[in-house]
Amino acid sequence: MKKVIVSGARGKMGEEVVKLVNRTDNFDLVGAVDVADVGEDINSLLGIDSAEVLIESELEKSIEANQPDVIVDFTTPGIVMGNIKTAINKGVNIVVGTTGITEADLENIKDLNQAGESKIIIAPNFAIGAILMMQFAKKAAKFMDDVEITELHHDAKIDAPSGTAIKTAELIKDNLNSKEDKVEEIEKIPGARGANLDGINIHSIRLPGLVAHQEVIFGGLGQTFKLRHDSINRESFMPGVKLAIEKLDEIEGIVYGLDNLIEI
Ligand code: NAP
Repeated sequence: MKKVIVSGARGKMGEEVVKLVNRTDNFDLVGAVDVADVGEDINSLLGIDSAEVLIESELEKSIEANQPDVIVDFTTPGIVMGNIKTAINKGVNIVVGTTGITEADLENIKDLNQAGESKIIIAPNFAIGAILMMQFAKKAAKFMDDVEITELHHDAKIDAPSGTAIKTAELIKDNLNSKEDKVEEIEKIPGARGANLDGINIHSIRLPGLVAHQEVIFGGLGQTFKLRHDSINRESFMPGVKLAIEKLDEIEGIVYGLDNLIEI
């Protein structure tokens, strides 16, 4: 039985994780942490017929009281690093879905976890289809002249570009043979051509009605090639979260990206 604390339990993703843990036979929800509805029973709030789990406001106290095997964190970019540090200090495993973690943050996490007591899985996207999109984009890059990425998310998303878009660009960049003779562009409105990561333009769209979507559009001589992934609801991320919790036993130290846990 895996004892799980959900951090950000009252958030949109956190609530899905609470449901996942409750419906999975060998998972046991032992704690729920959030700044909202502190002292309320998360299971009753979500209409789940299960033992009472009161929402606590401090992760550290929840770890001490509930002795979890794993924390699953879906909080906010400003909070997540503090939570990872808390997990490392307490020697607890953590699965992180919160986005906004930079390469510098990853180095910092590796330094902090040098003793390696905590097993850490960080995935900017837990949707299996998104992992396939990223891997196929990496392969396609070898054969096309150029690429741009458009990521589309709901209007409550704080960070831009999305962690998935950044990871996609990082995977593509070494395989891409961009043509050298690009025109010198004039941006009549600054930002019109999007953000740029190592020569790859990334465009971020935020609108109500969207969940999480991405297009990777390749261009070549007389042709384009488009890869698109759509998460139409937040349940789409749960098989990946379940896989990550289960795979913790098999990993050492830190794993970044769900693609490192599945064979494609
Ligand atoms: P959300 O609904 O805003 O959820 C965040 C939750 O964390 C809220 O309930 C928030 O409470 C709570 N929170 C704030 N400060 C906290 C603290 N100190 N301790 C514990 N909880 C705290 O956002 P979401 O849509 O669930 O997304 C959460 C994160 O997951 C975002 O970074 C998002 O980009 C990411 N995400 C990742 C994936 C993936 O596959 N990896 C997929 C979707 C989303 P308040 O609202 O009261 O501040």
